[in-house]
Amino acid sequence: MPFTLVAFHAHPDDESLLMGGSIARACAEGHRVVLVTATDGAAGLAQAGTTESGDLGRRRLAELEAAAAALGAARVVHLGYPDGRFGDCGTEEPAQALAKVLEQEGADLFTGYDPSGGYGHPDHVHLHRVARAAARLTDGVPLLEATLDRALLLRAARLVAAVPGAPPVDVARLRSGYLPRAELTHQVDVRPFVAAKIAGLAAHASQGTGSRGVRTVTLLRRLPGPIARRVLGREWFREVGVAPGLRDDLFASCR
Ligand SMILES: [Zn+2]
Repeated sequence: MPFTLVAFHAHPDDESLLMGGSIARACAEGHRVVLVTATDGAAGLAQAGTTESGDLGRRRLAELEAAAAALGAARVVHLGYPDGRFGDCGTEEPAQALAKVLEQEGADLFTGYDPSGGYGHPDHVHLHRVARAAARLTDGVPLLEATLDRALLLRAARLVAAVPGAPPVDVARLRSGYLPRAELTHQVDVRPFVAAKIAGLAAHASQGTGSRGVRTVTLLRRLPGPIARRVLGREWFREVGVAPGLRDDLFASCR
């Protein structure tokens, strides 16, 4: 039975980084995926030549459409909140805007972020709150919080830090970021969809390099092969209100 998944994200590129493989897998299995971005990412880092924030916002939304096409997602919705200041918009109004999309789409499932927003970006922390508030407005639509396996990420970060000339990695920050394995409810095998995930990431060309140096995508490429395959080939979620234990099927709660 085909389901509809609404993937709610803070900025263009978060969808591919955190759950590009799950989106591609859901689409390949015949489900409908709708990407919702809270902001246009206009305050993000830009490569030389795209310094106007309005231009960058437009460019990043176009990149998100391209990523959606690469992953197989059916629709992109931009809620129009200011990048970097999503928290200033409060919780209720964005939650209602998201709940409206969930209702329009007849969503069977939607995704948000863990309480730390993964690595602590204020827009991501706020997205956690907004998704939780939207869950309260819907009639029991399951909410899965996209995250990473903290222990695996720490191991990867230590390996990157040991490489001579490696970019600085804030290992201390990662210790309280994302979620411990014991709290996860889903570990989705997306190894057959790693190529689609990388195509989704590649669509965000303005985020490839930045003035502040090495970006996440570049970091991922520097990981030793087996670790990179584990980091890219599996994706993690915590379903709100469900006992921990690693399920492979995103839609397990929809049946
Ligand atoms: Zn983001």
